[in-house]
Amino acid sequence: MKIICIGRNYAEHAKELNNPVPAKPVVFMKPSSALLVNNKPFYYPEFTKDLHHEIEVVLKICKNGRHVQKEFASTYYDQVAVGIDFTARDLQSECKKKGQPWEIAKGFDGSAVLSSFLPIDQVNRNAIEFHLEKNGEKVQEGNTKNMIFSFDDIIVYVSQFFKLQVGDLIYTGTPAGVGPVQVGDQLRGFIHTKNNIREMFICEIR
Ligand code: MG
Repeated sequence: MKIICIGRNYAEHAKELNNPVPAKPVVFMKPSSALLVNNKPFYYPEFTKDLHHEIEVVLKICKNGRHVQKEFASTYYDQVAVGIDFTARDLQSECKKKGQPWEIAKGFDGSAVLSSFLPIDQVNRNAIEFHLEKNGEKVQEGNTKNMIFSFDDIIVYVSQFFKLQVGDLIYTGTPAGVGPVQVGDQLRGFIHTKNNIREMFICEIR
């Protein structure tokens, strides 16, 4: 199982970090050891002083495929979740400055918080609203209709390089509003389904 992540997929977020809006998807990966599921707490790592939350909609791949054509792309995922792409922003800035890969800033243990999944027909698949609360206050909200690259664009692009396999996860990028977390904070992620606003995960920082 692999965890594929898309960076800078919302123009407002690219701007807030002074990054250009990309012409092609920005792709990176996290190892499977990064997964943090079942509302387990996250332990603030000692290698960073600037850990940021990035809430993202996550797709689960339901079919193997490579070189997927756009017309079939939507058949390669059937469930959605929300998760956090935890980022050691200070380490990432250092890596970016030196032109180095940023795995240590993005792929560390526990850096991929993941909620349970919903069947995609329970949400408005072309415009999924989602948000993150920190200590009960809304800090990030997004709608997937504002993604630069749609779910299907991502499937087409990524499958040119990496064979998609059943169970793979795709973190589809974060909207604006990323920010630091501290020990003691409580993060809760929500998806707006067709019927209600559903709390999907809770993550305590210890
Ligand atoms: Mg991200």
